[in-house]
Amino acid sequence: MFLDETHLQLQKTARDFTEKEVIPIATECDHIFEKDKRASHIPENILRRIGDLGFYGIRTAAEDGGAGLGHLALVVVAEELARGWLSVGSCFSRNEASLALVVQPGFERLREKYLAGLLSGEIQTAMANSEADAGSDAANIKCAARKSDGKWIINGQKMWVTNADRANILHSLVRTDPKITPGKKHWGVSWLVIEKEPWDNSDPRLMITEIDTVGYHGMGTYQVDFSDFPVPEENMWGQEGRAFSMLMQGYETARIQFAGRCLGVARAAFGAALNYVTQRIQFDVPLATFQSIRFRLADMATSIEVCRQYAYHAAIKKDSGVRCDLEAGMAKLFAADMVMKVAWDALQMHGGYGYTRDLPLERYWRDAAMLPIGEGTQEIQRGVISARLLERVMPKK
Ligand SMILES: Cc1cc2nc3c(=O)[nH]c(=O)nc-3n(C[C@H](O)[C@H](O)[C@H](O)COP(=O)(O)OP(=O)(O)OC[C@H]3O[C@@H](n4cnc5c(N)ncnc54)[C@H](O)[C@@H]3O)c2cc1C
Repeated sequence: MFLDETHLQLQKTARDFTEKEVIPIATECDHIFEKDKRASHIPENILRRIGDLGFYGIRTAAEDGGAGLGHLALVVVAEELARGWLSVGSCFSRNEASLALVVQPGFERLREKYLAGLLSGEIQTAMANSEADAGSDAANIKCAARKSDGKWIINGQKMWVTNADRANILHSLVRTDPKITPGKKHWGVSWLVIEKEPWDNSDPRLMITEIDTVGYHGMGTYQVDFSDFPVPEENMWGQEGRAFSMLMQGYETARIQFAGRCLGVARAAFGAALNYVTQRIQFDVPLATFQSIRFRLADMATSIEVCRQYAYHAAIKKDSGVRCDLEAGMAKLFAADMVMKVAWDALQMHGGYGYTRDLPLERYWRDAAMLPIGEGTQEIQRGVISARLLERVMPKK
């Protein structure tokens, strides 16, 4: 499918921003990680520019201050920003998801407090759902909150929380009912809004420790330890003990958006390869002369375009308001396999130079490697897809 005028304009805006402001800083920021983790985070001015350009509020209704667009716009923007740096293509999705929650009926107090800051980027957020023993098995969480004197008191640990240190808000999945019903581990789980000061690690009740990841450095990934940490009772999204279904609904959006991120990294790697094979001379001719190189380019471009078309299809289906866990799962599954292959092919086409830190190929490759893991691993997507296919022929008793 072809994009309409509105989406083409959006694509152009995101592309210009990426070329002028993201690509020039991405590799340098990424590489500082080993010396100074905090310095490798996305610069503050980039976060604000994302707000100025209206990307955080891309799906937020116009009357709430957003662009009032849908999932297709989300994919278009994610692709363009991730082409510059995966972390930038990913960072806007946290506020974007928070805005989708904050505008819902019943959350007026949080909306009053956070709507403007989430739209501008002044407020940054993080999703604290996974734990050491609750990754794919997301319902297996142990981090617990108990009520005391009008507050939730949280104890336990969260793992893999991207952006936790800079964030003003952690959306945290906690067990509010200590009784675990066999076969229904997802019951008794609630979603709390944890307010904190960015970059402040002085409170021993909330310890934030950075994890030494190989890539995806622009927001950092953290372990978060709660020790009798108090949260106002009213800081809860939705119904007590029933957060899991909200999380599942959010996965459809997240996985579709994820496909956009994969597209962006793949396009960056492909663009570098396309350029290099016309410049690099071996056996007295450019690499692009060799059929095996040309065919590899053809395969890369085909898989990127097929991925883009399917991501658009999933996005449009989601915008139509019907269930689309099958399409979201397929989009994410195909996209994450595709980006791993394209990033690797591009590196290989650069030979030894691709394996140095002088070129961004190694960054694309390291960043790509997190994409088959986040928002449900490839195996989890295959589980979702096969379950949906089989339920048509093997209905549940
Ligand atoms: C860089 C990074 C950033 C992240 N950011 C966040 C974040 O911001 N917020 C957040 O909450 N989480 C985040 N995560 C966590 C991420 O969602 C989990 O890592 C992911 O869900 C996998 O969980 P796990 O690491 O515990 O692996 P496991 O669940 O232990 O899986 C290990 C392997 O076993 C496979 N496996 C597991 N169960 C099955 C099964 N039933 N059938 C077949 N195979 C299976 C998996 O596919 C995987 O290959 C992040 C992770 C990374 C690496």
